[in-house]
Amino acid sequence: MSSRFVLRIVAIAVLFVMCPALTNTAGTQGQTDRRNEKQIAIRFGKLWDGTGRMLTDAVVVVQGERIASVGTGGAAVPRDAEVIDLRRFTGIPGLIDVHTHMTYYYDPATKTSPLRQPRSLPAVTVFLAQENARKTLEAGVTTVRDLGSSDYKDIAMRDLINRGAMPGPRMFVAGYGLTHRNPGTNSASRGAASGPQEVERVIGEQVAAGADWIKMFGSTGGFDNVSGDQTFSSEEMKAAVEAAHKLNKRIAIHSYGPAGARDAVRAGADSLEHGTDLDDETLKEMASRKLFWVPTIDHNRYYAESAELYGFTPAAVKNLNEYIERNLNTAQRAYKAGVRFAMGSDAVFTMFGQNARELAWFVKAGMTPEEALFTATRNGAALLGMEKSLGSIAAGYYADIVAVEGDPSKDIQAVISRVRWVMKGGRVVIDRVKVQ
Ligand SMILES: [Zn+2]
Repeated sequence: MSSRFVLRIVAIAVLFVMCPALTNTAGTQGQTDRRNEKQIAIRFGKLWDGTGRMLTDAVVVVQGERIASVGTGGAAVPRDAEVIDLRRFTGIPGLIDVHTHMTYYYDPATKTSPLRQPRSLPAVTVFLAQENARKTLEAGVTTVRDLGSSDYKDIAMRDLINRGAMPGPRMFVAGYGLTHRNPGTNSASRGAASGPQEVERVIGEQVAAGADWIKMFGSTGGFDNVSGDQTFSSEEMKAAVEAAHKLNKRIAIHSYGPAGARDAVRAGADSLEHGTDLDDETLKEMASRKLFWVPTIDHNRYYAESAELYGFTPAAVKNLNEYIERNLNTAQRAYKAGVRFAMGSDAVFTMFGQNARELAWFVKAGMTPEEALFTATRNGAALLGMEKSLGSIAAGYYADIVAVEGDPSKDIQAVISRVRWVMKGGRVVIDRVKVQ
């Protein structure tokens, strides 16, 4: 090795030590320098580390916002570390929910349905939406992909969370979702577009505003409406994928029905949201393209159960339940066809806190509990392009760690309803260990 080469390595190392921000791409707690912070050693009876390994008597050593090491037994605890004893619990990586609408806040004081409440100022909604963020953390979710908001409330929320001004999961956000504008009509939404040029312009606007992702509504459907008629054409979807990728952004396309889903898959979307009755050819293509399917089965369960709050009719509830059945049936076929799944709750309003209930549907669709867990950890991280920082408990990863009661690799309910403690980026954000 030449001495000049060695010098160069030393220079790069010095640069990294001096500029922690350089290594901090997600920007969490980017304001504080925590290099010299004390190490924390967390002890777990069992640890499912996100790679498929289950360790016994595990020790996770955390320094600053990252994991320093993972070992087993008392010898793995550094001498000066602060010890958090969670040996009654199983440790798992912080969960990733890849479909939320964190800024859809419901104020019960309005005494009306979430869809009819008067609009608040964007700043007021962002402030109040902390409650959604806190409930999401309580569910063990430390990262979300938020797919659509107005007034860039999602961008504001992401930034407030990243600078430590608001507790909440790390957010990857989309700004305005693209909605189809019928040519000849005007739409008030800043996400409305018609034709490839407009699609490209609107995508550029979201990225310029600070969006991390692009969301496109490729069909009708939402809330009590499960119609699923395709809106954007195949050409418009192709233009969207191309425009997003050109700006180094990934794109999620929403389709309740099979036609929009088929075109979204062929256009090269990075994830497909919702969907029923997908034909075998499309499922095969989804598996071979390795795109992620986010079926969001549980959100219609939530709507059906919350019909009174929303003022949904009995006929709408029937439609929702029928949709769930076809959604689940399609999930069973997709699982058999080898399609990759990611966990997305599509949580809005009062659904926050129920984020992980989607996993029970995945088990119903044929997955083992461990396979279901992968959808909310490793797969979510891969979909976000964060597979080297999120979704596993390993040295160098963000210290996003959840303690649950029971063995989630055997019983998925441990994750859904028995989250006891949550750490995000090296900080304990939920602690219910003593309150039991
Ligand atoms: Zn959604």
